[in-house]
Amino acid sequence: MKITDVQACVIGRPEPHSGGSVWTFVRIYTDEGLVGTGECNSAGPAASGFATKEAILTLKPRLIGQDPMNVGPLYEMLRRSGRYGGTSNAPIIFAITGIENALYDIVGKALGVPVYQLLGGKYRDKIRLYADCHAGEDESPQAYAEKAIEAVEDGYSAVKFDVDHTGVGKLDRFNWTVGAKEMSHIINLVQAVREAIGYEIDLAIDCHGQFDLPSAITFTKAVENLRLLWVEEPVPAENIDALAQVKAATSTVICTGENQYTRFEFLELLQRQACDIIMPDLAKAGGIMEAKRIAEIADAFYVPIAPHNVSSPLGMAAACQVMASVPNFLLLEFHGRDITWWEDLCDGDKPFIENGWMQVPNKPGIGVELNDEVAKSLLWNGDTYFD
Ligand code: MG
Repeated sequence: MKITDVQACVIGRPEPHSGGSVWTFVRIYTDEGLVGTGECNSAGPAASGFATKEAILTLKPRLIGQDPMNVGPLYEMLRRSGRYGGTSNAPIIFAITGIENALYDIVGKALGVPVYQLLGGKYRDKIRLYADCHAGEDESPQAYAEKAIEAVEDGYSAVKFDVDHTGVGKLDRFNWTVGAKEMSHIINLVQAVREAIGYEIDLAIDCHGQFDLPSAITFTKAVENLRLLWVEEPVPAENIDALAQVKAATSTVICTGENQYTRFEFLELLQRQACDIIMPDLAKAGGIMEAKRIAEIADAFYVPIAPHNVSSPLGMAAACQVMASVPNFLLLEFHGRDITWWEDLCDGDKPFIENGWMQVPNKPGIGVELNDEVAKSLLWNGDTYFD
């Protein structure tokens, strides 16, 4: 089998609080008629959204004529041959991620097995999710508590809230020091959610890498008694030693990784004892097999993996395939509860999500396909559909 063409398109629509719901898809065509589709992050503000697509099309000539069953060597060829062009960085590693996903979709279809079967089998049949929650314009503790209760009533056993967009956003946006008034406000928000949901629901808090070191330490210590599932990115991602200082200063569980890519960056995080849980974004970090490598490196440190996820059902199905195949999976983010058309975008065994869980697809390949009609109606900013 030979690769005959590689195409990409961008699909999505800005929705209130939908975050990264502008997705790049890669489609790889073969001379045997098999077609694979993979998803990756669009690398950039929603206003543009085409950086990853451009990177995919730049890599296309390296793939034409190659055997798509050779995913490992093709992945390493793309990664290594572009090293001086920045293959460890966005958007090229995102492009390689989408290509690698599309190749695994082809291999699974060619062999008639779901991707988890190519990864050694599955430890679980369904994937536990947590609900990413937004209180909207209302920044009151009551509004946060109500949103948390809504998610729990939908069946979720874990919820996550952002605290950096609240009163903190009114501060200096360059030093990100959390003053006494704002610190009290965000601690009140976390307390209100915990009181509303009790201690049998998991609660994670995201700081989006926005706080300075003293603010991060003050905050994570102040919420120690609230037994959080984790505090996410309490400081920016660039300085691992600063994050390690936060972790050393508090008993609050520290999680990071949505801005780290490939096994090498996660190995460094773990060796430097900078976090307790890793959260790679599987539409960014390198691909399906790279995610398995990252998870297994973490497993050797007794560290769980709880991937960041803002993907469509296709990218999320790929995440389910690989998270089914690793022992130390904890739970997966679901960011699309506010997106009314989220389930409609793809075909497969529905509903994809029920009571806070996602079934691991059993169809060959990734197990979920774009619905062409819906996808075409959601093309981003004048883009065309795989041509
Ligand atoms: Mg985050």
